[in-house]
Amino acid sequence: MTIKDLSIESEKYLKPDDIDKIRLAYDYAEKAHHGQKRGTGESYIEHPLAVAMYLVKDKLDPDTICAALLHDIAEDKPELSSDLKKNFNEDIVQLVDGVTKLGKIKIKKSWFLPIRIFQDKKEEEMLFERHVESLRKMFMAMSKDIRIVLVKLADRLHNMETLKGVNPEKRERIARETLEIYSPLAHRLGMGKIKGQLEDLSFPYAYPKEFENLKKIVGPKYEKKEKYISKIKYILKEELEKNKINIISIDGRKKHFYSLFQKLNKYENNIGKIYDLVALRIVLHNTEDCYKSLGIIHSRWKPLIGRIKDYIALPKPNGYKSLHTTIFGPEGEIFEIQIRTQKMHEQAEFGIAAHWHYSENKKSGSYLVGKGSFIDKTEFVWLNELADWQKKIQDKNEWEKGVKMDFFQDRIFTFTPQGDVINLPSGATPIDFAYAVHSEVGDNCVGAKINGKIVPLSYNLKNGEIIDIITNKKAFPRRDWLGFVKTNRAKTKIKQKF
Ligand code: MN
Repeated sequence: MTIKDLSIESEKYLKPDDIDKIRLAYDYAEKAHHGQKRGTGESYIEHPLAVAMYLVKDKLDPDTICAALLHDIAEDKPELSSDLKKNFNEDIVQLVDGVTKLGKIKIKKSWFLPIRIFQDKKEEEMLFERHVESLRKMFMAMSKDIRIVLVKLADRLHNMETLKGVNPEKRERIARETLEIYSPLAHRLGMGKIKGQLEDLSFPYAYPKEFENLKKIVGPKYEKKEKYISKIKYILKEELEKNKINIISIDGRKKHFYSLFQKLNKYENNIGKIYDLVALRIVLHNTEDCYKSLGIIHSRWKPLIGRIKDYIALPKPNGYKSLHTTIFGPEGEIFEIQIRTQKMHEQAEFGIAAHWHYSENKKSGSYLVGKGSFIDKTEFVWLNELADWQKKIQDKNEWEKGVKMDFFQDRIFTFTPQGDVINLPSGATPIDFAYAVHSEVGDNCVGAKINGKIVPLSYNLKNGEIIDIITNKKAFPRRDWLGFVKTNRAKTKIKQKF
């Protein structure tokens, strides 16, 4: 990619003055990175160019594009970075500074792996503190200017796309960091597309074995389902058109591998329970048509009880809107249908970036997200909620609660008395913990203590708890454990004993 490509794309929505400014930033960055190569062998400038290109495609304001081009110069040429003020406006300087600071945050590898790291409780607390502090900094930076986070997400996306050029050990850490920090952040901002991209790129590096396994199991099923959906979409199209519904698009959408992996963990790895492996997505002109279509579909094909979801009337906290239903379709196949308007679709894909209006004149009722950039307040109830949430989290304790709630919703970190970290799904019990430590510990488990107190074996473990498993060499697993254990490891090991 060259600056010419970037200019051509920018011309679609920016004025010549703005493009001059972008060129200036490019020249500056080119000078700063001159002669430098990336791990992939390309010259370094390719990276800031690619990051800027993502943001131009999202039609972000020229200051953000300039900041994207300049985002890595502090690392290589500190003298040029302190000189930024002389050449660029305050906004650009602030944005570059924000992105640089965020880049310094590294999430400790020890947080991701169940390996022995902590010598004592104090050290453990310190590390958790630091982890939470990192996340806090990130959100603080965001509450100052959301554009910083948008640049950082684009930066991470390109880094993930070029991760092959990084040494294997570092790869895993970066991939895990992406899954634990950046994709949840994109999710929070309602940016489904980049969230999916980040997860798909990270998954094979973060969990190589699980990825290969899933591919083997699901690959053929995906293909079969895809064929079915592509055949069935014409039947549905016909049915809707017969009822005078004007369709913008009707397509199959494949579930991203990583979200499938997460969902399978929740559903005890029973792929039969996953109905949205490939879903049919219908995009229409208005909300009324969405409800009408749902009615038309239900009058012809029976819906599954409890699977009709109206996210239009009740949007998800990140702004997601759609109607979901799962039906017994033609040929008796069960599959999910998602119905939404074009606007809702863009919201689901691009989130906060979807309604980014770059304009020189501030409109009334708009939400200021940076100089010259506004978001319509009425469309962005959830953005205001996000701002409220940020305000609340200024108080550190509240913030930690929020972080723990949102970021560690699906996983908990528990500890052995020796300080080994055991990472488990939420809802896991002492039995899951015991089997995660060692199958013998699981088989011989007779009780569990938390903070010196005996707890039932079906107890739901909480983040940060230290679990002491009481064992007896003559003890055997009990069949009723199968009724409450969460992990497959525990289930398989228990079943093996019968
Ligand atoms: Mn970068």
